[in-house]
Amino acid sequence: MEKIALLKCEDYDVKTIENKLREGFELLGGDEFLRKLIPINSKVLLKPNLLSAEKPGSPTVTHYSVFEAVIRIIKEYTDNITFGDSPGFGDARKAAEKCGLIEVADRYGVKFEDFLDSVHVKLDNSILCKSWNVARAPYEADVVITLPKLKTHAMAFFTGAVKNQFGCIPGTQKAAWHTRMPDANNFCKMLLDLNTLVGTSFAILDGIIAMEGNGPRKMNTIIMGESLTAVDSVAVSLIGYKDPLDIPVLKEANDNKWGAVLSKDIQVVGENVEDMLVTDFKLSRTGGSFYFKNQVVNDFLKGMIAPSPVLIRDKCIGCSRCYEVCPEKPKVIKMVKMDGKNKPTWNMSQCIRCFCCQELCPNGAIETKHSLIGKILFRK
Ligand code: SF4
Ligand code: SF4
Repeated sequence: MEKIALLKCEDYDVKTIENKLREGFELLGGDEFLRKLIPINSKVLLKPNLLSAEKPGSPTVTHYSVFEAVIRIIKEYTDNITFGDSPGFGDARKAAEKCGLIEVADRYGVKFEDFLDSVHVKLDNSILCKSWNVARAPYEADVVITLPKLKTHAMAFFTGAVKNQFGCIPGTQKAAWHTRMPDANNFCKMLLDLNTLVGTSFAILDGIIAMEGNGPRKMNTIIMGESLTAVDSVAVSLIGYKDPLDIPVLKEANDNKWGAVLSKDIQVVGENVEDMLVTDFKLSRTGGSFYFKNQVVNDFLKGMIAPSPVLIRDKCIGCSRCYEVCPEKPKVIKMVKMDGKNKPTWNMSQCIRCFCCQELCPNGAIETKHSLIGKILFRK
C-alpha cells in the first residue's frame, strides 16, 4: 500500500507551504521517513517543471515558493542540493532565472545544474527503451525529487510527476523522442522507463494553482509521496477522472506493474479526496493514441478522429515558438502573413499530435479541436 499525503494549501506564502509540507512529511512517517529518503549528506537533485522562460508565479512552471519551502526542509538533512531541468524551449538557466528559482537557489547555496551534459547508459529490464542518453545530473544524484505542476495535456491528458521527468532528456533530444514515439502509449512506456533509469525517489506536486487547458485554475492542493504513479493517480481523481486507467501513463504503469495506480493500492493521508474534488475541471479528453502502423490507415483515421491544433488568431503574437518547437522534419507548421504578423498554419497530414506547439505557446493561442466524429467518439 502506497501512502500519499494530500494537503490543502490556499496560497503561495512560503511559510504556509513549508508548514504544509512538514505536515505532509509527518503524515508519511516524520523524521524517520525523511532520514531514509535523504541519507545523511546525500546528493539531492530537485527537478522542478521549467517548461520555458515564464514570469515568476506563472502556473506553467513550479512556483518559486514551493521550491523554497522544499529546500528549507531538505537542507536539514543535507547541504548537497542541486536543481535543474531541460525546458521544452530555450535556455534552462534563463528559464530558471526568469521564474525566480535562481534567486531562491542562490540564497540557499543550491547549485543550478545544466541538463545539457549527458551520459549514455543502458537500462536492463526496461518496458520499452533500453538505450538512453540522459542528463548526467539527475542520473548521478543520490536522491531525485520531482516538483511537478498539475496540468492538463493534449496528448497525455495530464502532466504530473511521471511526465515531469521528461525534462531529464537533454535539450533538443526531447524532440527526437516525440518523433520516435508518436503514439501516446509508447511515449508513456518511455516515460516510465526514464523514471526507472533516473530513480526518481519522491514527488511533491504543486497544484495550488493548476493549469486547466491554456489557463490557470486554483485548486489549493499539494500532493506528495514516494510513488509517482500514486501521486498522479490521486491528482487525476481530484480533477474528475473516475478511472485512473483513462490516463495513458497510468494505464501503461498498471499494465506493466510499474508503481501503484488503483485506489485499492493507495492510502491517502491528510485531506479526504472527496473534500478536495474540483467537480467542474475541464478535462482533456482529446489525446491518447492516434498512431497506426499502416501509413494509409494512419493518415485516414488520424484525419477523421484525432484532435488538431487550432489557432486562436487574435491571441497569436507571431513569436514563431510553435514553429521552432515542432519536432517533425519537415516542420508541420508553416508561418504565413496574417493580420500583419507571421502566424502558424498546419499541414495536418504530417502532424504526429504531440501538441508541443500548443503546450509551449506563450500566449495560449493554440487550442485542440476534434472533428465531429472525434467529438462523438470521445464524449464522456
Ligand atoms: S501561436 Fe503561439 S507560439 Fe505560435 S506564433 Fe502565435 S503566439 Fe507564438
Ligand atoms: S504541429 Fe504541433 S502537434 Fe503537430 S507535430 Fe508539430 S508540434 Fe506536434
